[in-house]
Amino acid sequence: MQIAVLTIFPEMFPPFWEHGMIRRAVDARKIHPSTVNIRDYAPGRHHVTDDRPYGGGCGMVMKAEPLTAAIQAARQAAPGAKTVLMSPQGRVFDQKMARELARLDGLIFVCGRYEGVDERVCCDHIDAELSIGNFVLTGGELAAMVVIDAVVRLIPGVLGGEASAEKESFEDGLLEHAHFTRPDAFNDMRVPEVLLSGHHGRIETWRRENAMIRTFLKRPELLMARPLADDEVAVLEKWGREIERIIQAQSTGARSLDRPGPSSGR
Ligand code: SAM
Repeated sequence: MQIAVLTIFPEMFPPFWEHGMIRRAVDARKIHPSTVNIRDYAPGRHHVTDDRPYGGGCGMVMKAEPLTAAIQAARQAAPGAKTVLMSPQGRVFDQKMARELARLDGLIFVCGRYEGVDERVCCDHIDAELSIGNFVLTGGELAAMVVIDAVVRLIPGVLGGEASAEKESFEDGLLEHAHFTRPDAFNDMRVPEVLLSGHHGRIETWRRENAMIRTFLKRPELLMARPLADDEVAVLEKWGREIERIIQAQSTGARSLDRPGPSSGR
């Protein structure tokens, strides 16, 4: 995949291309990144890329001409690439979108600064506006890095095992189950016995149940938005009965519970 980033701060990117999974993807020739300095497309001795807003007001606006010239050059170098403007006003990026973008041949990221870019650039040269959340950054560079990082790890062959991306949070509308590594006891907390059992079926069941419960506790809205399989409904019902039992025990004053709850796997 060709990845071009258009920015007035190109020096932010070499460390990004040169570390971790992105570096691996570059080395494996899965991605071909480039950083384009928008200033190189701004005429004049001072290579000015911004100007005051029409209508007045504070802040500066990124000028249309250098940005358009930079986009056109990037498109020529990567024909067929999709041009994405990083913007707090864009569609909010998520894992589903990351999967869609990972299938493309090329991506051109336009990073705004100041008050943003002249609207006429958006009309003619932008395929999509992407936001990384409902907050305002000072520039699009970090946002572009976030999107690139999430997309590149989904390009087939970039992660060690394809399966590791498929089981992660959001891939099937759930958060991923908890993870543990050695030692099996730490600060008086033990790793759930089932994970030490070597029994793949029981481990899989534990992980599925753990993912359901974590999603219910941390991000219940994800469960609301997702059709549930029968065994998932059964897990929620089991925990629902247990919660009712605790509430009942409290209201009747019977604080000592007479039977253990559903297995937490410990
Ligand atoms: N005046 C703009 C507004 O209110 O919509 C905000 C401009 S912001 C200070 C400068 C640049 O940062 C934007 O052009 C965009 O490229 C980037 N940016 C800021 N927040 C972002 C977000 N949540 N997602 C993606 N890019 C963002």
